Amino acid sequence: MNRSVDTELTRQALASSTLSHGLGILGDRWTVQVMLGTFTGLKRFEQWQQGLGIPRHTLAERLRSLSALGLLEPRPYQQRPLRHSYHPSAKALAMYPQVLMMWAWERRWGQGGVNLPAALLHRRCGHRLTPKLACRACGADADITRMRLQLAPVEALLQTKPRPTRAPRIPAAAAGQPSLGLRVDRWSLLIVTAVVLGCHHFDELSQVLGIGPSVLARRLEGMVESALLRCEADRSDGRRRIYRLTAASRDLLGYIVCLSHWASRHHLHQPSSIIPTHSCGHVFEPQVVCSHCREEVQARDVLPDAEPDSSRRANADQGVPA
Ligand SMILES: [Zn+2]
Ligand SMILES: [Zn+2]
Repeated sequence: MNRSVDTELTRQALASSTLSHGLGILGDRWTVQVMLGTFTGLKRFEQWQQGLGIPRHTLAERLRSLSALGLLEPRPYQQRPLRHSYHPSAKALAMYPQVLMMWAWERRWGQGGVNLPAALLHRRCGHRLTPKLACRACGADADITRMRLQLAPVEALLQTKPRPTRAPRIPAAAAGQPSLGLRVDRWSLLIVTAVVLGCHHFDELSQVLGIGPSVLARRLEGMVESALLRCEADRSDGRRRIYRLTAASRDLLGYIVCLSHWASRHHLHQPSSIIPTHSCGHVFEPQVVCSHCREEVQARDVLPDAEPDSSRRANADQGVPA
């Protein structure tokens, strides 16, 4: 049974969401890679260039635009010729929760080829950590699919279009390059969010996201193929299909919530149009805690730890479905 969705309210909430606007600057694969690099200690042009295999002009452009966005702070380290190193700003460090959520997702569901540490060591407690999304008010683990979601479109963001990513389309030849979230792009995150908001039918998704039928059909098909959605016949109307989240796409919600929160607080300075309330009764504010000691995880307290055997065990412990 499908409860009816207020498609106009949902359309406005999605169009003015801090997720949609936040992804406008971070949805591009190379941008995400460069930002991830800063959290693994990369600071100089050559380090990114060699580590990621990113074309030089693309890297130069990304470093410029990330500096203009206030995410990287260039500091000269050599005068002749002038060279800069790039350091994460406070605004960038505030992205760490979503970086941890992305790491956890890639470890669990990614298809390899991603340049990420195999395991993370929490220096505060000395244990391997699995990042856990928790409620800042009560400290309990959070599952966004069980929260009450209230929609309140944000006027200021309705009137501006999300800033389009500057990235040129990545040619097919680059598909084999290590890249984060090969299966996950801006649109798939917005489609997952629309499904969470109760849009399970093709026409609802088309309306709330403003995507034409042929493009939407292709996107949905791709998401079903890569197990981000499951598609079944509607029992009450055999001509319609219902789209539902899978375990992999439900797991993306931690990343989605952290990114929306960061974009709201640190980038757009506007409230979120999608307001989750936790079961403790407080408006849900995300924090990412260490699975072992339950302390909030800060970038400075985490070390990459590469030991494939035990990290595979850790993965198996999480109950990765076949
Ligand atoms: Zn709570
Ligand atoms: Zn810990």
